[in-house]
Amino acid sequence: MDRGAGWFKLMGTPKSAGTKLLSVSGDCARPGVYEVAFGLKVQDLLKMAGGLDAQAVQVGGPSGTCISRGQFERKLCFEDLPTGGSVIVIGPQRDLFEAIHNFMDFFIEESCGWCVPCRAGNILLKKKLEKITSGKGTAKDLQEIESWGKTIKAMSRCGLGQTSPNPILTTLQNFREMYEAKVRNDKDFISEFDLAAAVKAASSLTGQKLTEAHHE
Ligand code: SF4
Repeated sequence: MDRGAGWFKLMGTPKSAGTKLLSVSGDCARPGVYEVAFGLKVQDLLKMAGGLDAQAVQVGGPSGTCISRGQFERKLCFEDLPTGGSVIVIGPQRDLFEAIHNFMDFFIEESCGWCVPCRAGNILLKKKLEKITSGKGTAKDLQEIESWGKTIKAMSRCGLGQTSPNPILTTLQNFREMYEAKVRNDKDFISEFDLAAAVKAASSLTGQKLTEAHHE
């Protein structure tokens, strides 16, 4: 205020003037609140916070964007990676899928339930993600999780539902190989429902075993 708007605008980028307070958390040696000029590269922030070995950085909280190591040259500003201030560092020791599951749990919990795409859609997305991460997914499941996510974003009433699929959609975009390594390419469809496990107790009581014919 003392030095005026002109001085403040000397910092930052053309569309993101001045400085920004960033709350850096997660797998880094020096988590905390950093005031930096808009336009700082993610890599330079990681250097300051002691998190250069990160496998991923979640910019803008769960509803933001998850970027991979190859994108650490990107800039924190409205023209590139916008954030209200949250930057979460995800270290190489983490299972990234676990973080995505946690973010989806958060959105399911926070949905107010007013509209169906957000109330039911996020649960369906989470189930589909569980199917994929448990090794029962196919290429079709990847297509569906992507199109369902885009539909939920387009059809939800408020900002929560409009951003809730982002943990899945942005990792699908930036960590595609991680998803592809999980899906089976030798099958078009795998059932989520495990019939043998569901009737295990009854089978042991009756002494009857499930045959292939039952499965089909
Ligand atoms: S999108 Fe918003 S209004 Fe709709 S259920 Fe989710 S939180 Fe509620």
